Amino acid sequence: KKAKDTRERLLFYATGMNKRLAQALRRETQLRTALENRQYVLHYQPKIDLRDGRVTGLEALIRWNEPGSGVVGPAEFIPLVEELGLIHDMGDWVMSQAVTDFQCWRAQGLKPPRIAVNVSALQLARDDFVDGMRARLDRDEAARACLDLEITESVLMRDIQACIPKIAALREMGVQVYIDDFGTGYSSLAYIARLPLTALKIDRAFVSSIDATSEDTTIVSTIIQLAHSLGLKVVAEGVETADQAKLLRLLRCDEMQGFLISRPVPALEIEALLAAPKLI
Ligand code: C2E
Ligand code: MG
Ligand code: MG
Ligand code: MG
Repeated sequence: KKAKDTRERLLFYATGMNKRLAQALRRETQLRTALENRQYVLHYQPKIDLRDGRVTGLEALIRWNEPGSGVVGPAEFIPLVEELGLIHDMGDWVMSQAVTDFQCWRAQGLKPPRIAVNVSALQLARDDFVDGMRARLDRDEAARACLDLEITESVLMRDIQACIPKIAALREMGVQVYIDDFGTGYSSLAYIARLPLTALKIDRAFVSSIDATSEDTTIVSTIIQLAHSLGLKVVAEGVETADQAKLLRLLRCDEMQGFLISRPVPALEIEALLAAPKLI
């Protein structure tokens, strides 16, 4: 059956009817071996305290060096990685690599902050996700010292009943849990209150227009007040201008992240960022 599938695919390819399909098939084949061929790399983007400019954390963001095509961003390949069932191994690699980089910075005498890794819905949905995390933290002091998680709002809302105990267990293990892309998932506020979260990250879509439209300013202001009333911190993502930062500070947002401070950079470039005492 496999040989027949391959023949059919090759026929398709050979007739040149669909270049995009050919590229998709090549990608699929390459992604199956991307891990063993060491084609993934993590970049890091700092989060800073809006009051004093201190770096409070780093976010790990994966990139893929696709052979012949250069650097590909996660939005372009993670859906396929998920479809191929490779997300669990990739996610494990992300955590291991983040811890390795953390240890490497420490070994150089830097004081790296905690690192948040993004986890996909499929990872969190697995029954053994929390146990896997626990085993990792148990065997590795550096992992305990640095690993936090970012989970997108839409994922949490899809199955909130299943998520509550998982997040509670992770928090008990000392893992900070961020709800990512907040504001895009139409969550009910009552739901958010039931999740033992560390902080909300306001989606870039709202942040990018706070200095332009009063509606978005109102939304952001409301999210911040709501989060604070629930005892949660607020991080604004995608901050690109000094005016946005100023407004967010006025609205009492706690932390921010964005091109204004730094793009996501390779591990080697984080050293310079960490060596600088303040970024604003
Ligand atoms: P996210 O977690 O919401 O990450 C923020 C995205 O916004 C990143 O895109 C980042 O590079 C970009 N960004 C940060 N600051 C700014 C800014 O000021 N302006 C603009 N225009 N963009 C900014 P990236 O790296 O392409 O990642 C996209 C998404 O892919 C992430 O969204 C996250 O959901 C997912 N992702 C990234 N790494 C991983 C991973 O290791 N595992 C999983 N499962 N998902 C990942
Ligand atoms: Mg994130
Ligand atoms: Mg985000
Ligand atoms: Mg986002």
